[in-house]
Amino acid sequence: MKLSRKAMAISPSPTLTIDARAKQLKSEGVDVIGFGAGEPDFDTPEHIREAALKAIQEGFTRYTPSGGIPELKEAICERLKQDNNLDYRPAQIVVSNGAKHSLANVFTAILDPGDEVLIPAPYWVSYPDMVKLADGVPVSVMTDPQGGGKLTAELLQRYLTPRTRAIVLNSPGNPTGQVLSRKELEAIAEVAERHDLFIVSDEVYEKLVYGGAEHISIASLDEAIKKRTVIVNGVSKAYAMTGWRIGYTASLVELAAAMDSIQSHLTSNPNSIAQKAAVAALRGPQDCVEEMRLVFDSRRTYALERLHKMKYLSCSEPRGAFYLFVDAGQALGLSFRGTAIDDTDTLAALMLEHYRVAVVPGRGFGAPAYLRLSYATSMENIKEGLGRIEAFLQELK
Ligand SMILES: *Cc1c(COP(=O)(O)O)cnc(C)c1O
Repeated sequence: MKLSRKAMAISPSPTLTIDARAKQLKSEGVDVIGFGAGEPDFDTPEHIREAALKAIQEGFTRYTPSGGIPELKEAICERLKQDNNLDYRPAQIVVSNGAKHSLANVFTAILDPGDEVLIPAPYWVSYPDMVKLADGVPVSVMTDPQGGGKLTAELLQRYLTPRTRAIVLNSPGNPTGQVLSRKELEAIAEVAERHDLFIVSDEVYEKLVYGGAEHISIASLDEAIKKRTVIVNGVSKAYAMTGWRIGYTASLVELAAAMDSIQSHLTSNPNSIAQKAAVAALRGPQDCVEEMRLVFDSRRTYALERLHKMKYLSCSEPRGAFYLFVDAGQALGLSFRGTAIDDTDTLAALMLEHYRVAVVPGRGFGAPAYLRLSYATSMENIKEGLGRIEAFLQELK
C-alpha cells in the first residue's frame, strides 16, 4: 500500500527515539541515566491536581467550546497582562491540546503550498516537520551555537525570498537555551515589518530564565508587531504539566477564529478536566514556578561547571529552558574501543550502550556536531551521569 508523499516526508522525532531506547533499557533493569528528557521531572503541583479532581467530581466531563472554556481564556489573558503587559481579549485566544498542537494550528492557518518559514537553527526538532505537514517549506537559518545560537536581522536577510511568510522565534530556546534581548528582538521585528511576515513566537520556556536574563515577548514591543505575532505558549513546562496537554495561542481575532475552526474539525476541545486544571495553574499561587526554576538553576550551574572541565566538549552558558547544548566536534574522528566516532549519533549510541547514559545527538536539531543534555533530572542523576560521560571520554583515542 502506498502512503502519501506527506507521510513519507516526515521523520520520527529523534528526541523521542533516544528516550524510547533509554526507557527500554531501563525496563530491562539496566541502570540508565537519562539526559534525554524534554519535560520537567517534578510532579504537577498539588493545588492543580486538586482542581482536576474537583472537575471530575462536579461532572465537568462533556464537550466544551472547541477553542477552550471562557474561564480559561480569561485566565490566559490575565497572565499575558501580568507577565508581559500584553492586552488580549478572550476572542484572541485559542486553547489547544498543547503548544505543539497550537503550532500545528498556526502553520495550517497561515501557510499556502510552497510558502516558506524561516526557522533559526539549532531548532526544536518538530518545527520543520510541522511546516511540511502544513504544505509549507521549512528554511533553516543557521546561527552560531557557540555564539549562543542567536538569530540576527543580517542572517534573516540572507534567507528572505518572495515566498517567505513567517519567522519562527523560540526564546528562551530549546535546545540552545538562548534568550533574545529587547534589542535583538527589535531588529528581528523590523525585518518582519519591512517584509510583511508573521512571527510565530514559541514562548513555552518563558518562566525558565537564569542569571539575570529577562524574557521579553516580541509582541510587547509595539502594536504593529503585536498584530503580526502569534504567541504560542502552554502550561507544560512552567507548571510541570506535560501530560495534561494544554497549550494556547494569542493572536489577531481573524487568525484565532480560523485556528478555532481548524481545531473544531480535527480534535474538538482540549480535555475538559485539564482545562480546569490549567485555570488553577494560571490563577493560583505562582511560587511553585519559582521553586522549580531555582532547582533548575542550581543544576544548570553545577552541570555547566563540570562540562567546562571535560575534554573534547565545550558549551556556552544557556540562559533559559533546561538544556545544555554541547559542542562535541572535537570528539569526532576519534575512536572508542576500536569503533570510529564519525558523528554524534555514533557517539550517543556508544555512550548509551557502554556507559548507560542517554544524551540526544544534534542532527535532529540541525546541528550534527552537538549533543543535547537535559537537566530536567535529579542532581544525583546529573552527578552520576556526568561522571559516566567523563569516564567515557577518557577512553577516546
Ligand atoms: C516542549 C516544547 C513544546 C511543546 O509543549 P507542549 O505544550 O507540551 O505541546 C513546544 N515548543 C518547544 C520549544 C518545546 O520544547
